[in-house]
Amino acid sequence: MDRIQVLVRLRPLSEKEVARGEPVEWECINDTTVMFRSTFPDRPTAPTAYTFDRVFHSDCSTKEVYEEGVREVVLSVVSGINSSIFAYGQTSSGKTYTMTGVTEYTVADIYDYINKHEERAFVLKFSAIEIYNEVVRDLLSAENTPLRLWDDAEKGTYVENLTEVVLRDWNHLKGLISVCEAQRRTGETFLNEKSSRSHQILRLTVESSAREFLGKDKSTTLVASANFVDLAGSERASQALSAGTRLKEGCHINRSLLALGTVIRKLSMGSNAHIPYRDSKLTRILQPSLGVARLESELRQPASNSSLEALVKEKDNQIRKME
Ligand code: ADP
Ligand code: MG
Repeated sequence: MDRIQVLVRLRPLSEKEVARGEPVEWECINDTTVMFRSTFPDRPTAPTAYTFDRVFHSDCSTKEVYEEGVREVVLSVVSGINSSIFAYGQTSSGKTYTMTGVTEYTVADIYDYINKHEERAFVLKFSAIEIYNEVVRDLLSAENTPLRLWDDAEKGTYVENLTEVVLRDWNHLKGLISVCEAQRRTGETFLNEKSSRSHQILRLTVESSAREFLGKDKSTTLVASANFVDLAGSERASQALSAGTRLKEGCHINRSLLALGTVIRKLSMGSNAHIPYRDSKLTRILQPSLGVARLESELRQPASNSSLEALVKEKDNQIRKME
C-alpha cells in the first residue's frame, strides 16, 4: 500500500440544499474517478474528470468509507505503527461527520482486536487538541490555557501538559468526543464558525505488552498513535479576506495548510530532502506520525502490569473529576 493515499467522499445534498434547488456538480464515475461539471451559467466548463486512490459516492455510509478506506491503515496502530487520517474540504462538506464516525469505528475495532488477543495487555489513551491561530489548546481540559510545544530527543515534539485519558470502553470514547465538540464550540458566535477556522487532532495511542514478558523484557512494549485530523475549512485558505481578525486567521490557516501540503508532497515523493515540519504547529505536532513509521519499543521502558493498572486508575480518577 502507498504510504499516502487520497480518498474522496461525496456527501448527499442536504434538505436545505435540495429545497434551494442546488445542482449536483460532482458525480462519482467509478471507484477512483469523480467528474466535475460547473453549472454556473456565466462559468460553463467542460466536464473534467479527477482520479484519486478511492472515490466514495454519496450513498456510501461512513462504515463503508471506514472499512474500505481507513481500517487497514489505522488498525496497524495495534502493531506499533503510527498513522494519520486527515479530513480536508470546505466548511459543511462533511469533515467532522466523517471523522467522528471513523474514530468511533476504529476504537470499536481495536477493542474487538484486544478481546481476541488475550496474550497481550493493552492500554488505549485518548487526547484531543485544537489549533486556532497557531495557538494549541487542550479539548479535554476545562482550563482554556494555551499549551506549549516541546522537542524531546526521545519522544520527538510533544504538547506540554496535555490531558491523556485512559479509555475504559467504547462508550467512554463517545463521551469524550462530546466533551471535545462542546469545547470546540465554546466562543463560537454562530454554528460552525470557530470549528471551521481551527484544526482538531484526536489522538489514539495504543500501548501493548506480551503478558508473559510483563515486567521482564524491555523490548515487548509497543507504542503507536493514530491521529484523526479534522482540518480548518479549506475555503479559508483561498478566500479573499478582509482586514483584522479574519485576515490573521486566514494567514494562519493558509500557512498551516500550506505547510501540511508541502510536508505531505515531499514525503510522498520519497524525498530525502529537508522536510519542513517546523513551518507550522500542525506539522510539528504530527511529525512523529508523518515520518517513517517506527516501533518505539526500544525507546520506551516497558510498563509493568501493576504500573499499567496504577496508570489506568489515576487517569480514570482524573476523568471522573472532569465529568
Ligand atoms: P464540516 O465539518 O466539513 O464543516 P459537517 O461534518 O459538520 O461539515 O457536515 C455538515 C452537515 O452535513 C452536518 O449537518 C452533517 O450531519 C451533514 N453530513 C455530512 N456528511 C454527510 C453524509 N455523508 N451523509 C449525510 N449527512 C452528512
Ligand atoms: Mg466541522
